[in-house]
Amino acid sequence: MRLGTKTLRDADALRGAGLIAPAARDAIAAVGARYAIAIPPALAGLIEHADDPLGRQFVPDPAELITAPHESADPIADEALSPLKGIVHRYPDRALLKPLLICPVYCRFCFRREQVGDGVLTAAELDAAYDWLRARPAIREVILTGGDPLLLAPRRLGAILQALEAIPHVETLRVHSRVPVADPARLNAAMAEVLATEKPLWLVVHANHVREFSAEARAALRRVQARGVPCLGQSVLLRGVNDSAQALEDLFRAMLAARVKPYYLHHLDAAPGTARFAVPMAEGRRLMAALRGRVTGLALPTYVLDRPGGLGKVPIATPEHV
Ligand SMILES: *Cc1c(COP(=O)(O)O)cnc(C)c1O
Repeated sequence: MRLGTKTLRDADALRGAGLIAPAARDAIAAVGARYAIAIPPALAGLIEHADDPLGRQFVPDPAELITAPHESADPIADEALSPLKGIVHRYPDRALLKPLLICPVYCRFCFRREQVGDGVLTAAELDAAYDWLRARPAIREVILTGGDPLLLAPRRLGAILQALEAIPHVETLRVHSRVPVADPARLNAAMAEVLATEKPLWLVVHANHVREFSAEARAALRRVQARGVPCLGQSVLLRGVNDSAQALEDLFRAMLAARVKPYYLHHLDAAPGTARFAVPMAEGRRLMAALRGRVTGLALPTYVLDRPGGLGKVPIATPEHV
């Protein structure tokens, strides 16, 4: 248990926290020059060693500097689907809005760990995004993602949610976030109040391992749930993190116990340098088939692939069942 108070952001900080060996310092610094590093204290305290299910997700590894031939910096073609800065539009009835590209924790399997310069939408860019949404009555749902929208100050996030609520055809709001487990103290009463919007808002919590559901994380979720905000869970299937039926069962049961309905289990996106996390699709399908019947249906997410080239998500079918 490391009881630091600062987010670990470079090789020296990781070495100071005992998360990397002194001899690995230069190799990890080279990774840090390419991909952002951030491990908030709440997560650092849960890591026992760099190769446990939490360490693997958050501690950089020199293997990230090797890009496999099939890997791409924009694996799901978000850029091609972006009509203007901060918006991604792939499906007729919903659009993503990314108010900032900063994240509380740079997961090593995420394509968004590519370092971003100025990661915040300006007021003018936000206004342009609202205008774009207002002009498209087919869009019924706006999904705030990033980066991580819960890194905004509650007042700023509140202003964004209010502006979206004022668009008549926007019926539903969604916030995708790693903050509830990565930095639960941020989900304080003021933030919870902001999420209690007039129109329905769904909070989608990103978590990949049972140990991410600390007492602090569960208390943070209770604060928003007490204000009537329903919660869903999304996870990524990852080698050495949750690639067994037992690990997935434990994760999904922890979600349910925290009143979070497992929604999606994502197949890994082919982001650069993430090969060490890859689990073949046939194996993922077998794992999901093993859970069916063994755990309550409430605990089962849909296993999905976000197809390369911007083609969208598809469930990975289980022919065994047909
Ligand atoms: C994943 C995603 C959504 C949300 O899809 P749901 O299946 O409704 O959760 C919306 N837009 C884009 C571009 C996405 O990648």
